[in-house]
Amino acid sequence: MSFRRESDFIPGEEQRYRPDDGCPLFSERLEEHLVAFTRGELPNRGSFCGHCYTPLAADSERCPHCDEDVATRAPVNRVPDEIVEVLRRQRSTESRWVNGFAYLGLLIAVVGGIALVLVIPFFKDNLIWATAAYGLILLVGGRGLAGFLGGYYGDRIGYERARRATMAAWDQWLVARDG
Ligand SMILES: [Zn+2]
Repeated sequence: MSFRRESDFIPGEEQRYRPDDGCPLFSERLEEHLVAFTRGELPNRGSFCGHCYTPLAADSERCPHCDEDVATRAPVNRVPDEIVEVLRRQRSTESRWVNGFAYLGLLIAVVGGIALVLVIPFFKDNLIWATAAYGLILLVGGRGLAGFLGGYYGDRIGYERARRATMAAWDQWLVARDG
């Protein structure tokens, strides 16, 4: 069974890496709903696909995300706590990796900047310029490296790790739910 992603239908828009790996958690609409719910902006009530828990419109006959027929599997009126918890874990794993790599980038700028200023003879004799150069390296390099390492490597690795845990949780959930 293949699950189409909503992002497939938005050409040109920058999207995070989402593999089509057979696990229907999480559709963008479900993710938006759960984020709003965990922030207390929305109640965990409504009509959700009985399979993948994507929010459904009142007249939906099929889930727009996993294509489940509502006649085969009735919609549910709340997202199970276990699924909310899976998303919470996924996002916390992702943000740990993004932040970890961002700090690594900052650390490289801090240490690399000191090293650079120390090895260039001109800076040894010109403390003002050395300070200015170091400040610039921290400001530009620190920000750039943190953004690049966190936003690229941290995001990618974090997503892969979190995704694996989500897929394992989904498999367990299916066994518990459907036997
Ligand atoms: Zn669905």
